[in-house]
Amino acid sequence: MRLSRYFLPILKETPKEAEIVSHRLMLRAGMIRQQSAGIYSWLPFGKAVLEKVEQIVREEQNRAGAQEVLMPTIQSADLWMESGRYDDYGQEMLRITDRHERQMLYGPTNEEMITDIFRSYVRSYRELPLNLYHIQWKFRDEVRPRFGVMRGREFLMKDAYSFDIDQESARHAYNRMFVAYLRTFRRMGLTAIPMRAETGPIGGDLSHEFIILASTGESAVYCDKDLLDLPIPGEDTDFLSDLSPIVTEWTSKYAATDDMHDAAAFEKLPEDRQVAARGIEIGHIFYFGTKYSEPMGAKVAGPDGVERPVHMGSYGVGVSRLVGAVIEASHDDAGIIWPQSLSPFDVGLINLKPGDHQTDMACEALYQRLETAGVSVLYDDLDQRAGAKFAAMDLIGLPWQMIVGPRGLANDEVEVKHRATGERQTLTLDAAVNRLV
Ligand code: ATP
Ligand code: MG
Ligand code: MG
Ligand code: MG
Repeated sequence: MRLSRYFLPILKETPKEAEIVSHRLMLRAGMIRQQSAGIYSWLPFGKAVLEKVEQIVREEQNRAGAQEVLMPTIQSADLWMESGRYDDYGQEMLRITDRHERQMLYGPTNEEMITDIFRSYVRSYRELPLNLYHIQWKFRDEVRPRFGVMRGREFLMKDAYSFDIDQESARHAYNRMFVAYLRTFRRMGLTAIPMRAETGPIGGDLSHEFIILASTGESAVYCDKDLLDLPIPGEDTDFLSDLSPIVTEWTSKYAATDDMHDAAAFEKLPEDRQVAARGIEIGHIFYFGTKYSEPMGAKVAGPDGVERPVHMGSYGVGVSRLVGAVIEASHDDAGIIWPQSLSPFDVGLINLKPGDHQTDMACEALYQRLETAGVSVLYDDLDQRAGAKFAAMDLIGLPWQMIVGPRGLANDEVEVKHRATGERQTLTLDAAVNRLV
């Protein structure tokens, strides 16, 4: 992509309304534009990152055996009346009336709808286990939308729903999502810690929030420092096998959100392992048994032929929130530092002297060579001062920069800069290309 053709409205000034760094950087880097409180348009650069996040989530859901569906954003209130949540949900729910005076709503979550789908088709334990997910926009009329996409009103969520014949198999379903989440967040360069979370009236130990530590996090969290270094299950993890040893390893160490915090247990840890910090909730997994299947009549016959309500869990990931969360975790004074896995381009190619024939020719050749080799390039062909080019490239945070100017070219050399470390190397054209492919 040529920067001269790319719609990347970079802001020079720091937007005053943005309180936290990720929000400021997303606005400055031309990723999003606020349309109303907590409602954003995603511009090309932001959209590209959002899609990368989405794709990693999708791949790990599929790997864990979940199947993708797509449910609508607009739901009928009828289903919510069946579950009893229509009145309970309160003001966070955006309620809509259509031209026939039917009560509709913009879905804040999809337990009711997926339960309805399930009960329409599934009758027997033989069709279980089943896990269906979608990646779809949600609306919650948050009291205080803030921090940009971190607490939006309209936001993109991955929500998965598992169906099992009993609690024992539901636990396996839960474990699969637990492990999938560890892998998902690590692939985005994050250290997410599963923390015991409020389970509501059902009780039990099957609710975890996946939290990254960040000073701007909205919740107080407490955990054992050892969790920060635990290895993540590999790509070869067999999701059909018993994953409970992995889950036990993670859950036997202290980690709890404010609601579930047990100060006495926490203080038994050696002092240097007590981490009390702020955290951002990027995912939440939850077993809730027959809470929806019972009132909504989602039943399956067991091996004995007797029908029983299906056991369910739900598993959310804040896809759009993650874009902000990753920036909170990975930036410096100059701007964003994307992990390779989320960056819209692998390298920013900077032409220091557009209009200079030799420099233009060299840049065009490098652009073609890199793209042909599968390295995606944002080519800065703009006629601007070098300082402005460097600042813009640092701001948008691509993993690599290749800096090309007449002086280096005289010796057949260019400079390659690694955004994360700031390390610069002067290399021949061939060596520079090889460094990146
Ligand atoms: P929070 O505690 O931040 O309000 P929640 O517990 O209400 O989140 P869940 O119902 O667990 O959210 O939804 C699953 C995931 O969706 C959350 O873990 C979070 O990552 C994301 N999410 C929830 N609310 C928002 C929001 N207003 N804006 C962006 N992402 C959100
Ligand atoms: Mg909430
Ligand atoms: Mg929460
Ligand atoms: Mg939650």
